[in-house]
Parts: sequence; C-alpha cells; structure tokens
Amino acid sequence: MALVNMVRMLHYARKEGYAVGAFNILDYNSFKAVVVAAEELEAPVIVQTSVKTVVFWGYEVIFNWYLDIAEPVGVPVAMHLDHCKDPDIIKKCIDAGWTSVMIDASSEPFEENMAVTRQVLEMAQPAGVSVEAELGEIGGVEDDIAVDEENAFLADPEKALYFCRKLPVDCFAPAIGTAHGLYKGEPKIAFDNLERIAAGTSIPLALHGGTGLSDDVFKRCIALGCAKVNISTQLKYSFIDAFVRYFQQNSKEYNPLKVLDAQFKDMKKMVQEKIRLFGSAGKAW
Ligand SMILES: [Zn+2]
Repeated sequence: MALVNMVRMLHYARKEGYAVGAFNILDYNSFKAVVVAAEELEAPVIVQTSVKTVVFWGYEVIFNWYLDIAEPVGVPVAMHLDHCKDPDIIKKCIDAGWTSVMIDASSEPFEENMAVTRQVLEMAQPAGVSVEAELGEIGGVEDDIAVDEENAFLADPEKALYFCRKLPVDCFAPAIGTAHGLYKGEPKIAFDNLERIAAGTSIPLALHGGTGLSDDVFKRCIALGCAKVNISTQLKYSFIDAFVRYFQQNSKEYNPLKVLDAQFKDMKKMVQEKIRLFGSAGKAW
C-alpha cells in the first residue's frame, strides 16, 4: 500500500526531526523520477501538483499516473494538491483520488482564512484526505498566485498558534520569510517566529520556497519542526536544463526518448540529493 495521505509520514518526520520532500511534478516522466528516487533511497515522498498542472493534464490523467507509478512501489507516496484557493477544485481532486490537499486562503483576512480552511477540513478529513493550510503570505510566484515580496508578510506566532489550536490541520505552513521562485539576495528567515510556533504546536510544519536555500537553512528549519519541505522551482530547472544540455551536446540526433531519459536522470539525481539532505532516506516505514 504505497498510496497514502501525509498524516503518518509527517507525524513521524516531526517526531524524529527529519523532513519529507514534496516535489512539484510536471508530467509522467517527472512523476516517475520523483517516485523512483524515493524508492531507491527507501524514503517516504510527497508528489505535488500545482493547480495549473492539474488543469493542463486533467484530474483523471494525473491520478492514473499515481496508480501506475506509485501503487507498485515499496515506499509510501502521498499525492498532494499544492496551493489551492478554490474549494471546488479541492473537491474535484478529492473525488479523483488525491490523498492530500492544501487550502491556501492566506491572502484572505484571518477569520476568513480560518472559515475556508474549516470548510475544507470538513470535506477532506472524512474522506481520509490530509489537509495543509497556510498563514501569512509567502513571497514570489507559485502557480498563478503572485505575492510581491515587499507585501509578503510573516505569520504572527500568536495567531499561528490560535489557528493550530482551533483547526486540526495535518500540516501547517507559516510564512517565515521564504519565497517561491529564485531568491534575489540572501533570504531573511524568521527563525525566532518558527521556533515560537513549533514550541506551541505538535502539528508538522511545512517549509515553502525551498529552492535556493542553503543546506544550513534547511537543516535549521527541519530541526525546528519543518517536517515537509517543498521543492518546485528546482525541479523545473532540472527539467529544462537537462533538455537544453542534451540538445546542445547532441544537436544532430533528434531522439526524443534519449532526451526524456536525460531529464529523468537529472531530476532523479536532484530529488535524491534533497531526500538525503532532509534526512528521510531509509525512513519509508
Ligand atoms: Zn508554496
């Protein structure tokens, strides 16, 4: 039974001080690269889809990849919907078979964020689907959600803990100064806020905007309670860079299957580096 939600994997990760990598896949090949990477390292893994990716391919197509790729493997694989503002899309993913969803109502006022998150919990948890929620705003662009970095604001620790006390979410993403996309300078991470939030709740925390953070920052955040680390931009870079590099080195060849193989190998390598860094290798069960 490789198809699971995030509950157990994140519970153990938080308890034992490591993190499960959550990678935003783009197609069948990247889906497979992520799962094979995890299987070789005996690691639990989260395959994420952005709303854009879901709309591009369709619900059933992606769910069939999940059945085809993840069901036969010997490691737990969760399929998670990343940043979604729309409960109707969340409902469609739950109906299609996703095992986990993120409701991102972080741009709404605090009470509204709580109300929408509660609505999603009531819909998802009876179906055995885990729920991630966000507070504060993570900068940069993720999917179609753009947040000006100057307008990105940190999650207030008091409000974060109130949110976690009132709502039994399975994973909580407080904005702590990380951003989606690539960093222009050294990101200022609010480690104090993260520490205060982690000290007040046992809910596993999620670290967004992982691409470009130093190994030390990852390790510090994981030690402070981040049990899920999102990697999106870096997989996009592996996907495109491997394609370009292969074509530059073999410009006369025009063999698409070899290009796909080069992409697969690069993505798998990157995913394995992250799994090792996050400490989840060997933690499959
Ligand atoms: Zn994110």
